[in-house]
Amino acid sequence: MDMVTYRAVARAFPYVKQVYLDAWGEPLLNPHFWEMVAVARDNGCSVGVTTNGVLLDSRVAELLARNLDVVGISVDGATADTYERMRIGARFEKVVQGIQDLVAARKALRSDGLPLISLLFLKTNENIHELPAFVDLAATLGVDEVIASNLSYVTQPAHDSLKAFSLHAPSPAHIEILEQVRCKAKSKGLGLRLYPLAPKRVPFCEARPLEELHITWEGLVAPCVYLTLPVAGDIIFRVYEGVRYRVPKTHFGDLRVSTLLEIWEREAYRQFREPFAKRSAACGGAPFGPSGDGGFRELDGPAFDAVTRYSLPDACRGCYKAMGL
Ligand code: SF4
Repeated sequence: MDMVTYRAVARAFPYVKQVYLDAWGEPLLNPHFWEMVAVARDNGCSVGVTTNGVLLDSRVAELLARNLDVVGISVDGATADTYERMRIGARFEKVVQGIQDLVAARKALRSDGLPLISLLFLKTNENIHELPAFVDLAATLGVDEVIASNLSYVTQPAHDSLKAFSLHAPSPAHIEILEQVRCKAKSKGLGLRLYPLAPKRVPFCEARPLEELHITWEGLVAPCVYLTLPVAGDIIFRVYEGVRYRVPKTHFGDLRVSTLLEIWEREAYRQFREPFAKRSAACGGAPFGPSGDGGFRELDGPAFDAVTRYSLPDACRGCYKAMGL
């Protein structure tokens, strides 16, 4: 995103709690990144970022520690072998040093305990065995939490087999690994967000389209990142249980020419949100989020039956996020 577009987006910041700089790319590569952070802070927003940590050196660590409220670092492995196989060209030793620098800079510069520092681990069949060691690593580094998410969105059927979760019967070995991870995190006092290995009875997705939205690099307003991939054309692809589906790109306006309120109130956007609002009302506004044991809160059977009377929009069909995954 360029600064002209960002400044147009920033007109909405007075109405926004948090600006999260992240979507389908490495935010620290944007030459205007620090200016973007400053604009969001000047508007009173909390600011978060997810980075792959490749550019995280002592200078960047200090800037992040001074200016951010939330920093997520995607690591995905507990050993150099796995990490460097999954993240071609990156060096495990360097990213670990960068995380140490960030934790040290936070300690030296902030008295409020921020930024919250999370280590992110995208669970796949190829790395899930390292998740317990990853929790050990996170605790040793002194970060606040581990977020172990799922490979819940792929565009190629060949990548579908990498996912560690199952709609039918999760692997007993994977279940055992998650149990170990829960125990370890608890014993080490480490925060944990552990995405499940099987669908959950959640009212809808964690994208929370009633409260959050996604703005693309060109200023288009969409309900979530999964509905506007940065690819040419109006169609994106989504693989569900090995089958590739065509999904129309879904966005509701352009912040370069309309205000956020105008876009938010558009009839098409209202219609998109309507089933989410009905589901939220049907379960008494039960919040979606982590439960005490690091998993996700679920609705009971009758409450789930009540929410699923309302079908989500067509564009959300086959989205694993709507299953809490
Ligand atoms: S269900 Fe999926 S596609 Fe629909 S808004 Fe949520 S995350 Fe996006």
